[in-house]
Amino acid sequence: MEDLIIFTIIFIVYVSFLIIFKEKFYKTENATPIFLIFSFLSILFGNYFGGIFKFPVIIYIFSIIYFSGFLSLKYSVAYILMLLLIEILPPVYFRFKQDTMEILNLPWENVFLFAIASVSGMVTGNISQKFLKKMTDEYERIFSGRITKSETKQKIIKKSKEEFRQETELSFEENIKELFSALKNSIGFSGIFLFLLEDNENQILKLQHYLSDYESDINLNNEITQDNPPISLVLKERIPIIISDSKTDSINLGYYLNSVEIKSIIALPIMNGREIRGILACDSKQKQFFTENHKEILLHTINIIKSLLFNYTDLVRFHDQANEFNILYKMTTELSATPFEIPTEISIDSPLKLESVYDKLGNFFSNILKDTAEQYIPLRVIGFYIEDQSFYSIKFTSGKFSFDPRILKEKRFKIEKDTIFKSIFEHKKPIWRYLKEDESVNLNLEYLEKTDPETRSFLAIPLKAGEKILGVFLLEYVQEEIFSKYELKIMSITGEHSGTIIENINLYNTMSNLAKTDGLTGLPNHRIFQERLEEGIKRALRNNKPLSLMLMDIDFFKKFNDNYGHSTGDAVLRAVSQVIREDIREVDFPARYGGEEFVIILEETNKKKAFDVGERIRHHIEKSDFFLNNQHLKITISAGIAEFPTDTADKKELIELADSALYKAKKNGRNRLEIFSKG
Ligand code: GH3
Ligand code: MG
Ligand code: MG
Repeated sequence: MEDLIIFTIIFIVYVSFLIIFKEKFYKTENATPIFLIFSFLSILFGNYFGGIFKFPVIIYIFSIIYFSGFLSLKYSVAYILMLLLIEILPPVYFRFKQDTMEILNLPWENVFLFAIASVSGMVTGNISQKFLKKMTDEYERIFSGRITKSETKQKIIKKSKEEFRQETELSFEENIKELFSALKNSIGFSGIFLFLLEDNENQILKLQHYLSDYESDINLNNEITQDNPPISLVLKERIPIIISDSKTDSINLGYYLNSVEIKSIIALPIMNGREIRGILACDSKQKQFFTENHKEILLHTINIIKSLLFNYTDLVRFHDQANEFNILYKMTTELSATPFEIPTEISIDSPLKLESVYDKLGNFFSNILKDTAEQYIPLRVIGFYIEDQSFYSIKFTSGKFSFDPRILKEKRFKIEKDTIFKSIFEHKKPIWRYLKEDESVNLNLEYLEKTDPETRSFLAIPLKAGEKILGVFLLEYVQEEIFSKYELKIMSITGEHSGTIIENINLYNTMSNLAKTDGLTGLPNHRIFQERLEEGIKRALRNNKPLSLMLMDIDFFKKFNDNYGHSTGDAVLRAVSQVIREDIREVDFPARYGGEEFVIILEETNKKKAFDVGERIRHHIEKSDFFLNNQHLKITISAGIAEFPTDTADKKELIELADSALYKAKKNGRNRLEIFSKG
């Protein structure tokens, strides 16, 4: 009975200790109830068996079960070791000192021991927790290539690829160094060397990292090829070798410049599947230094190296992808920003210029590799616009040309059979070529026979809208083998996106043209005439120059329609508009005013000169023989002219005055011109 009370007290003390410090000590919340059961059972069993198995030992056993089940192994081991030290050893010691186990039979002794166990357990737990945290941080720092949780993805994206590569490589090197120095300190060899595959085709390995007592003697450019034994044996056979008993004075390993007396080596292949990726080698000045145990350790080391390598390439890949997304995002927002956003309503503003899209694309393509290296700027960039796969014109040029590339921009060329575009039309995918010194790509274009002699990397990117090719960008670089997979992907996607923009611009321009021209004659319509007149008047005021307005009307056209039909009338309207176009100067602006009336704005022209122009047209029409619908037809026109600002300074009145002059011409017998005059 007394025992039971004591056990209950022990139980309560122990448990309350654990519960109070649960937060600090226990990582696993739901372990507590299981622990309570174990503790209770242990106390009962301990009491029942007595002797050496009495209470503390049983508690230890259950503690082991408990801790290894619910806490990490490291915590458990630390805790149990502490318990053993404090609680097992003294009793065992006492046991040997005294024949009886009296000390263990004293319940109060047990309480005391138990209290110590609890406190020491907590302290150990806490210390080991802190220790483990430090270890974890260190582990993370070493194995994550410095990208710790604190560094956000955003930050990685912002770093340039080159910067990132350098940094990751640096940390890879640091990690390898740490690993090597740990191994060297514990094993005590002379040197450790990591060779990595440099040339897969010829199976050449290059010395990448090392740690040696003889660093000044190391040949940094050392390569392992098929023919420098004994290490090449690893390369050939892909098996580990140990040479422990060199018959000669020293083994010539090739990676020391001066003679270093090496007596033992071990070298192991670093395999990736069936492919050799590298060799890890250690050497020593002692004979028979390396054993099978070292082989085991180094095999384990190779696994760590592999995971470091994998970690590194993985990070670079992740960075590439993040960067890719970033660039695409930038490109899309930039290209779809105004003025490329097609307005929902067609306005009569000046047409959207393809050139500005080409400028943006040209700059984008020119700079895309700069992320990899600052000097990766194209030697030459050419942006082509392609119509129906049969004509091309040049909308963007930058870089080196043997002639002034501006002369290309005003021209439109027919696409011949064997141009560079041929395979682009066929495959509809980017084409890239890496060129040797005397090689070039045949472009077969006017002025552009071949790629530049200096070009070593060549790329042609189609600008696509669906399957339709609306343009091509050519990029030439002096650097060799310059394109990475992801850069090609970005350029290809950009090409696919921008074709659609070009198509939209074309569509928009066509529609806006339609809205501005008269469908029958193709001349600007009345609305555009009004706008142009307003602009012309402003210019005339600004430059203090006259502007003449000529209104023309076909004579007796009602009768003409009646005689020959409306469609013949339409044909005459078209023919007359053609005559007007031919007979005026480039700077004059003709329009269909309405019905069978035409209007011409003649800037910087007084009415006397306008009269001459009108006479030319009138005469031309008068003598023309319109052969329409198998009939030879004759028509005449009348016209009235007014001058700004001489006759009036008002736009509306200017039209009215020209109209009144026209009326006068009609009245005076038709087929004639009248100049407005007051009175
Ligand atoms: P005038 O010499 O006095 O100008 O005699 P006119 O018959 O030409 O008289 P008016 O200018 O009043 O008549 C215009 C005619 O032009 C009316 C219409 O039949 C014809 N017309 C107007 N627009 C078109 C058109 O788009 N197509 C055709 N075929 N005829 C048109
Ligand atoms: Mg009329
Ligand atoms: Mg008429």
